[in-house]
Amino acid sequence: MNNPFENALTQLSRAANVMKLDPQVHEKLKSPKKVHSASITIIMDNGSTKTFPAWRSQYNDALGPYKGGIRYHPGVTEDEVKALSFWMTMKCAVVGLPLGGGKGGIIVNPKELSETELEKLSRGYIQAFYQHLGPTKDVPAPDVYTNSQIMAWMLDEYEKLTGEHAPGMITGKPLCLGGSRGRDKATAQGGVFVLLEAVKKMDMIPNETTVAIQGFGNAGAHMAELLAVQGFKIVAVSDSKGAIKSANALDISALTAHKEKNSAVTGFTGTETITNEQLLELPVDILIPAALENQITAENAGRIKAKMILELANGPTTPEADAILFKNNVVVVPDILANAGGVTVSYFEQVQNASNYYWTDEEVMEKLQKIMITAFAGVWATKEKYAIDLRTAAFVTALERVGAAMKARGLV
Ligand code: NAD
Repeated sequence: MNNPFENALTQLSRAANVMKLDPQVHEKLKSPKKVHSASITIIMDNGSTKTFPAWRSQYNDALGPYKGGIRYHPGVTEDEVKALSFWMTMKCAVVGLPLGGGKGGIIVNPKELSETELEKLSRGYIQAFYQHLGPTKDVPAPDVYTNSQIMAWMLDEYEKLTGEHAPGMITGKPLCLGGSRGRDKATAQGGVFVLLEAVKKMDMIPNETTVAIQGFGNAGAHMAELLAVQGFKIVAVSDSKGAIKSANALDISALTAHKEKNSAVTGFTGTETITNEQLLELPVDILIPAALENQITAENAGRIKAKMILELANGPTTPEADAILFKNNVVVVPDILANAGGVTVSYFEQVQNASNYYWTDEEVMEKLQKIMITAFAGVWATKEKYAIDLRTAAFVTALERVGAAMKARGLV
C-alpha cells in the first residue's frame, strides 16, 4: 500500500522542480511543524475501558492558523494524518485563504461505538489537544466519519475547559451553534463550480455526460445530487459495502432514501451490483473518487476509461498513477482544488463567528463560486504556462503563496 505521506512529498518535489522552488522553503515543507499525539481512554457502555490512539498534525502556519478536519477511521495512521495536513496547507493556499494546514485523526471504527461512547471519545480528543487549538491557533472541522454533532460536542468541551465562548475554534458546527449556511454541501458545491469550468474547457455537454462516483457520504452523495440537477447522468455510485451501476441515469433522491433505509447503496431498484474496483474502470466520461486515498494506482490507472477525474477525496491518485493518466490524456482535477469548497465555507464560518453576524445561503454560494472559479482559472493558466498536469499546476500555485509567506516571515 502506498504511504500517503511519501506520495505527498513526491507531489511536492515535482512542483518544486518545475517552479525552481527555493531549496530552503522546500526543505522546511518536507515535514510538519508539529505533530501532537495522545492516547484517549474511555469507559465503554459495558464498563470496560478502551484506549484509542489519536493525532493532531500542524503542518504549516505561514499563511494563518492551522486548519483541517478530524478523521475517525480504523485505518488512520500518523503518516496519513501528516499527508492530509500537508494537503490542507496546499489547499488553503491554492484558493487564496489566509489559513495554514492541519489535520487530526483517531484510530476507531465509529460504527462500533454507541452515541454515548462517541461523545466521550470526541470530548476526550479535545481534552488531549485543546491547548494547541483555538480560533487563532488551529481550527478543526469534520472529515471521514465525523459530522456536525461531533463538532458540537468538541466545541462544548473546549468552551468548558477554557471558560469562554469561542465558536470559531471549530467549523462544520450545527447552525444553532454558529455553523455556516451551505457548509454541509460546500465540498460538493465547490466541486461542481470547478467541474463546470473544466467541462467547458473540455467541450463536454452536461446532459450528454456520464458520471461514476466512488463514495456516497457527505462529499459523494451531495455531489451526485447537485450534478443530477445540472443534467449530468450519474450512472454508478458506491460506498464501503459495494457499488452499483445502471444503464440509465440514477434517481438520486430515491437512491439517497434507499441508502438511509438500508445503510448501503447496493440493492437499489434497477441497478446491477459491481465491485468498487469495477466502478473505477467503467466507460464513463467523468470519474469522481469521493472516499479514501490510494484508489487509482499504477495497477489500475491504465484501465481508467474516464476522460476526466475530479478528486473530491483527498489523495485518491498515487504519483505513479498520475504519470500514466497524464500520458493517456486523462485530465485529473486535483483534490487540493476540486474539494477546496469545504474549507472555503469553513473559512466563511470562521469569518461569521468572528464578526458574530451571519450570512444567507445566497451570500455563501456567491462568495464560494467566485473563489472556486478564480482558483480554477489561476491553476489552468499555470498548467498552460509550464505545460504540466493540473495537479502540479495547483501545487505550483499554492507553493508560490506559501513560499512567499514563509520567506516574508524569515525562514528560521
Ligand atoms: P463520509 O464519511 O461522509 O463518507 C465517506 C464515504 O466513503 C462513505 O459513503 C463510505 O461508505 C465510503 N467509503 C469508505 N470506504 C470506501 C471504499 N473502500 N470504497 C468505496 N466507498 C468507500 O466522508 P466525506 O466527508 O464524504 O469524505 C470523503 C472524502 O472527501 C475524504 O477523502 C475526505 O477527506 C474528502 N473531503 C471531505 C470534505 C468534507 O467537507 N466532508 C472536504 C474535503 C475533502
